[in-house]
Amino acid sequence: MRPSLTRSVNDTHGHDIGDELLREVTKRIKICLRETELLARIGGDEFAIILKNTMNTYTVTKVAQRILDSLVTPFHLKGVDVNISASIGISVYPDNTTNPDELFKFADIAMYRAKKLGRNQVCYFESEMQKQFLHRYKIEHALVDAIPKGQFCLYYQPVFSTQEKKLLGFEALIRWFVDDTLHMPDDFIPIAEDSGAILAIGRWVIEQAIYQLSAWQQQNNQEFTMSINLSAKQLVDEKLLTCIEDSLTKHNVKARNIEFELTETALLESNDSVIVMMNAIRDKGCKIALDDFGTGFSSVSHLQNFPIDTVKIDKSLLFASSEAKTSSLIKGLSCMLHTLDLDIVAEGIETETSLKLCQELNIHRIQGYLLSKPIEVLAIDKRYFSK
Ligand code: C2E
Ligand code: MG
Ligand code: MG
Repeated sequence: MRPSLTRSVNDTHGHDIGDELLREVTKRIKICLRETELLARIGGDEFAIILKNTMNTYTVTKVAQRILDSLVTPFHLKGVDVNISASIGISVYPDNTTNPDELFKFADIAMYRAKKLGRNQVCYFESEMQKQFLHRYKIEHALVDAIPKGQFCLYYQPVFSTQEKKLLGFEALIRWFVDDTLHMPDDFIPIAEDSGAILAIGRWVIEQAIYQLSAWQQQNNQEFTMSINLSAKQLVDEKLLTCIEDSLTKHNVKARNIEFELTETALLESNDSVIVMMNAIRDKGCKIALDDFGTGFSSVSHLQNFPIDTVKIDKSLLFASSEAKTSSLIKGLSCMLHTLDLDIVAEGIETETSLKLCQELNIHRIQGYLLSKPIEVLAIDKRYFSK
């Protein structure tokens, strides 16, 4: 069993209180254990416990829960009240493994899972966790040198005017090729966000998409637009603005032709720095779109309080339980967005019915498989630009 506590005590109250807390925690945990059971501190704020001769997992869970409960009451340390939480990961001998090192590692993996579940959670190791952990670990490591190895590629999905179906621009969508395997963004972007690799990847995407837009604009003497997805994590990247500015200058592209797409989750981390960055991007002349609207909170206040030019209606809204429902839903939503004077893009247009609906409701732009899937540069050239 591996309990782990919250870390911030040293930072907030100093090392004296931190040391005292560890001693008090140890006392409280010991009260929950029998004399023969082993308790060890294995570093920082982490402990290990060996429970012997346990009959079943019910008993183990009870001990774990007792430990968590014992830590809930605040600690009074040198005149300071300290609240902590703990996460407990459990591995079982011989069910999970008979190898002591592995048993230890598995409890660790379970503890991280417990942490992810929130405060004061107990989690048992399951072999599925090991698989997921290894998968994430592999992806995280492979991402480190994916840029120098030239493994990323941008696909582009054309965006059209709804009424005339005229090509207006593109959305850049990243793909990752490792040997013969194609990884889709949903498989690796969240991992890149956790590991921090998203910052370099995001900058690569911006530079590459702006370069490609410049090539298409010059080739066709037309002001197409480019939509670029930004992760929430990129909004605190201090190099982001310089990267945008440098790419625009280097490739001689007008800022008004670039639209950065953010999802509502980025806005939820709504500290001031997010708004500051959004305003700074707009001050440069670029546009900002709210992506996947209709999936998350779909908060009207977000539309009012954040500097947003465009709302992208998520594809899931086009598939409500009945055609009549879909129609009412999109009608109400587009009416509100029109009133707020926002530009509207409908994504995920797969059928003529959806297209007609967008035309009737005067939704400005559309993209979707009906018109084109995201495709490579050469395929775009061949389909739209070959004379
Ligand atoms: P998104 O920005 O909402 O992009 C639209 C997704 O819907 C794309 O999936 C696209 O291939 C798919 N799509 C487009 N038309 C249709 C349609 O008619 N039907 C259906 N079923 N799907 C359609 P993709 O390329 O897998 O990207 C998934 C998500 O990954 C994107 O959602 C975006 O949030 C993220 N993403 C992609 N590229 C980047 C990137 O360069 N940076 C960041 N931060 N995120 C990216
Ligand atoms: Mg998008
Ligand atoms: Mg979307």
